[in-house]
Amino acid sequence: MKIVSACLVGVNCRFNGENKLSAELVEAFKRGGLVPLCPEQLGGLPTPRPSSRIVDGNAYDVLDGRARVSNERDEDVTEEFVRGAREVLSIAEVLNVEAAILESRSPSCGCGRVYD
Ligand code: SF4
Repeated sequence: MKIVSACLVGVNCRFNGENKLSAELVEAFKRGGLVPLCPEQLGGLPTPRPSSRIVDGNAYDVLDGRARVSNERDEDVTEEFVRGAREVLSIAEVLNVEAAILESRSPSCGCGRVYD
């Protein structure tokens, strides 16, 4: 079982109400074994929503309370982002997930590289 960023299989969950559909991942989803999740929606944020970015640190700093997530209206959405991350972790543990296929450059899903 693998998690996939929901927007990559066509769910319109991006901040702008659109998706980032990957035909290859849609085919993999049809074969089974992929669980689409959107941490920002699971954290309680609406769609569409203002875009957000991590301020003053990285994701580890956010989880440790040393950095925050702010949207383009300068509203603090750290709580929603952390809640969404924890929800995804809970689901991953329940399903015994082995891997995740994540959209790059997202403040929630991006791994390794979040922004340009
Ligand atoms: S949080 Fe992840 S799944 Fe949701 S829209 Fe952003 S990149 Fe896609």
